[in-house]
Amino acid sequence: MSCLSDVILESPDSTLVATVPEQQLLHKSLSVFAPQKKFSDWTSQDHAESYTFMQRIAKAWKDSGLTDQYLVYSKVDSNIFKWEMIPYQKCKNVFGRIVQQLQVLWRTVFGGMIILAKNKQDQVGYYKANLKKQETIIYPSYTQNAGQDAFCKQETIDRQWVVIGEKVNVLFNYAPIGFGGEKLHFLITPKEHRKAFTDVTQEEYVESMQLTNQLIMHFSETRECVKNVYLMNKTGVDAGQTVDHWHLHVVFSTNTAQNFWGRITVFKNILFGSSPMKKEALKQKVEDLRNELASYKS
Ligand SMILES: [Zn+2]
Repeated sequence: MSCLSDVILESPDSTLVATVPEQQLLHKSLSVFAPQKKFSDWTSQDHAESYTFMQRIAKAWKDSGLTDQYLVYSKVDSNIFKWEMIPYQKCKNVFGRIVQQLQVLWRTVFGGMIILAKNKQDQVGYYKANLKKQETIIYPSYTQNAGQDAFCKQETIDRQWVVIGEKVNVLFNYAPIGFGGEKLHFLITPKEHRKAFTDVTQEEYVESMQLTNQLIMHFSETRECVKNVYLMNKTGVDAGQTVDHWHLHVVFSTNTAQNFWGRITVFKNILFGSSPMKKEALKQKVEDLRNELASYKS
């Protein structure tokens, strides 16, 4: 449990906090969590509130000139659920980008860097100063022009949708990353064009998390092998955003190995991705999942 001095944001009833963690994936990374709650205990209200926290943090980074690129990452298991928000530096070239990604991914698997008390104090000071200016958030507008990206194209949605929601869709990733066994890798994406996390509305975000929760409950009940679920979304090319339309990755892991090679497998798959499925195999997989998840259509 973090001590009170690390807290940079707190909800009025203290159910949700944002803190500078003991171990960081990159400088100025933050944790957003409810101190008593596992993922299954999070309500829609908690998700709505965490959205507000994360929007404020993203805007503080941007307005202070730190960055407009970041990764939001979490692992769902039986522990307290924590979002990690990781600000990325702008890179001059592909090499710099790869080095930064390797740093983050290595620390994701093997543990973050431990920060010194003085460094932590400086970071808390930065947040206290910059978040103060962020008391009112201007929420994104609903009118954005459709982009030219894959998730604005009807043919992509027709080919990959497994659940059609109200404001967001659940797609099956055509190149699913997996950890052995059945590969279950979903992308939840707003129907309207949204480029960055700061373009996503609260309603779209909360529905994305409700659908994530339904997927996790469903596959935990129907697949004995599901052990962990990785959630991540990326804003900006240096943070690894490959489609210019915001999407939440939901990746189910059947890997139970906590040893060195087990962790290396996870690391390798997150970093290098997976090869695309053959057209026919993808079609069959998507069709099966549509039938299986038919009751989740909203
Ligand atoms: Zn788009």
